[in-house]
Amino acid sequence: MSKNYVVGFPRIGEQRELKKVLESFWAQECSFSEVEKTASKLKQKHWNYQKEAGIEYISSNDFSLYDNMLDTAVMLGAIPQRFAHLKDEALYFAMARGAQDALAMEMTKWFNTNYHYIVPELSLQDSYTLNATKILQEYKEAKALGIKTKINLIGPITFLGLSKRVDGGDVYELLGKILPLYVELLKNIAQLDEHITLQIDEPIFVKDNEVKLLSLIKPTYDMLGGVADNIDIVVQTYFEHSNEATKILVHTPVWALGLDFLHGEQNLESLEIIGQSGKKLIAGVVDGRNIWKNDIEATLTLLETIAQKVKKENIIIASSCSLLHTPFTLAYEEKMDAEIKNWLSYAVEKLDEISLLSKLFLKQNLTILDEKQLELNKEANTSRKTSSRIHDKEVQKRTQHIDKLQRDGDYEERIKIQKELLGYKDLCTTTIGSFPQTPEVRKARRDFKNGVISQEAYEWKMKTYINDCITFQEECGIEVLVHGEPERNDMVEYFGEQLSGYGFSQNGWVQSYGSRCVKPPFIYGDISRPQAMTVDWITYAQSKTDKIMKGMLTGPVTILNWSFVRDDMPRDEVSKQIAVAISDEIDDLQNAGIKIIQVDEAAFKEGYPLREAKIKIYEQWAVRDFKISVSSAKKETQIHTHMCYSEFNDIIRTIEAMDADVISIETARSGNELLKIFAEVGYKQEVGPGVYDIHSPRIPSVQEIVHQIEQLLEVLPAHQLWINPDCGLKTRKWAEVRPSLAHMVEAVNIVRQKLNK
Ligand code: GLN
Ligand code: ZN
Repeated sequence: MSKNYVVGFPRIGEQRELKKVLESFWAQECSFSEVEKTASKLKQKHWNYQKEAGIEYISSNDFSLYDNMLDTAVMLGAIPQRFAHLKDEALYFAMARGAQDALAMEMTKWFNTNYHYIVPELSLQDSYTLNATKILQEYKEAKALGIKTKINLIGPITFLGLSKRVDGGDVYELLGKILPLYVELLKNIAQLDEHITLQIDEPIFVKDNEVKLLSLIKPTYDMLGGVADNIDIVVQTYFEHSNEATKILVHTPVWALGLDFLHGEQNLESLEIIGQSGKKLIAGVVDGRNIWKNDIEATLTLLETIAQKVKKENIIIASSCSLLHTPFTLAYEEKMDAEIKNWLSYAVEKLDEISLLSKLFLKQNLTILDEKQLELNKEANTSRKTSSRIHDKEVQKRTQHIDKLQRDGDYEERIKIQKELLGYKDLCTTTIGSFPQTPEVRKARRDFKNGVISQEAYEWKMKTYINDCITFQEECGIEVLVHGEPERNDMVEYFGEQLSGYGFSQNGWVQSYGSRCVKPPFIYGDISRPQAMTVDWITYAQSKTDKIMKGMLTGPVTILNWSFVRDDMPRDEVSKQIAVAISDEIDDLQNAGIKIIQVDEAAFKEGYPLREAKIKIYEQWAVRDFKISVSSAKKETQIHTHMCYSEFNDIIRTIEAMDADVISIETARSGNELLKIFAEVGYKQEVGPGVYDIHSPRIPSVQEIVHQIEQLLEVLPAHQLWINPDCGLKTRKWAEVRPSLAHMVEAVNIVRQKLNK
């Protein structure tokens, strides 16, 4: 009887071996054969982890040297013309990262995760040809090691849906060109072995799809299902429910449906038709998006519910999605508190959970080790339910009875008071918060953390940096100053470290794109703020200047969206707790004399759910919590917020509802395009669009910025505009930042003169 299944496994390596070898190859410090050697070793190790855990369905082709979408583009020969002169690995990495003479392909978020994929570029004139080498090789590679894998592919509909047509038509028009290549691929795969399981990922099915897309499902899967008798096709979705697609797929020759029951609870509604169809169900019940130990008993109950509609022998226990989105293994977490560590489970540990669940579900004989694991699992879950480190009555009481949900006064009233009090001019100049993080600053932070330098020495270094930032800004003529954020290595981690209920890992790396990984902190318990977090630094900075010093905080929604969040409480409750903590910080700041406070919501857009029905709910609580976080601000305290590069069109009303006095946005790359929506909807509050792109070392000329500001003025009046660069100055060098900002100030002066004439 079939038992268990892993949708996909992380590939970066338990010590980020893949990252290291790739980066050394790119720096020309090793040869490509080194990369290949590491890749083989990693694949072997990862397959063995799964085999040893007793996983029956282990994937091949879930590995990639950069990205699976990129691999799929290469498989289909979808190589943009500008890379045509390149070959092999030079071609592959140039597509991902760009080459001297060819711009890299675009990269974007993989659904609602923090993984980013390369966006294929397609056009009607191009011809596509199959290159199945990687897929076939990887299967053979595993087989030679004694592991018979299922093969993972990105499905044709998702591939097209996530690509862009460079010639401007509808991507799905190209299905007729792509599908024959998939058919050919399946024929090749069929010859690999007597019998093959093929997982075709179609996560695009979990979106609110139009009838047109849905109409492609049946012909596509009738065709693929008919290619070879010895291939069993699993259509795999994740991150949400795919009920519309399921209704169609049960009438095609596919063998199984892979569904996520954790992030797509509504998949439960499809069980009846799946049961009737007699198809297998890959039941995603172990969370591939989070780091908590599975609650085995609760999951067994869920599985029994599923089994009421789908025969037990047709159910295969699985991860909810690829384990790529969780860190690798707890084995290297040496510093973590033992009690907290006992609540966690990374990819390797999840394998054991999947394996144990399948044994329990199928009532197979448990070994002594299994019995022990089950017992420990129960203990860990009980400890999480009761630990005083998680449950803080005070915090719960406070969040349940929030008396103040928003600021006093409406925007018109507030801005009048603020303009009078703060006396800033039209086109007021400022920056987004950080200044270049020099090697000395980073070293000072590291040394302090490691106990190499004393608190005094550390503070002295930070204060020196702040002084320098202030001197520079004053000399440059910037009007609203920032302290430069030298004490922060990351805008979320910095606050997490000071809040109770937050945990940090040593090795909790998750691939973000290519060789890049992030190490999100995690929220395990009720959040509170034992003491002020930024007041000392900001008041110090304010004491060094007569100009206005802007306080700098990260907003509740961004803190939430860039952390692993506890799963024993709704996300919006957690977010509310953070909001309350931030509102206390704002109150402390204003009482200490800070007149403008910026609450960054860089990741506000990132948290958007995939389905319309959930988007509304998200917007409601996200706005609610931003407003709670600034509710303590007096009318005269000006609240700024900041959002990074995004399309604001569909969220403009939501942004307006956040009711910040000023919003700065990252827009330089789009001229005044992104700003137009603000004018179109009659947005009242003030806006600071980035006037130059900081993602490049290039120093913008005065003239260029004048032009940019004039473009902005075509859209919004001067009294509604602030002038600032895009965000991210911390990633640049002083030698670039100094002249660029001087040019910005000069440009503002020129424009102001023109306006006064
Ligand atoms: N205040 C932060 C900074 O300037 C904002 C970062 C961001 O937008 N991601 O670094
Ligand atoms: Zn930003």
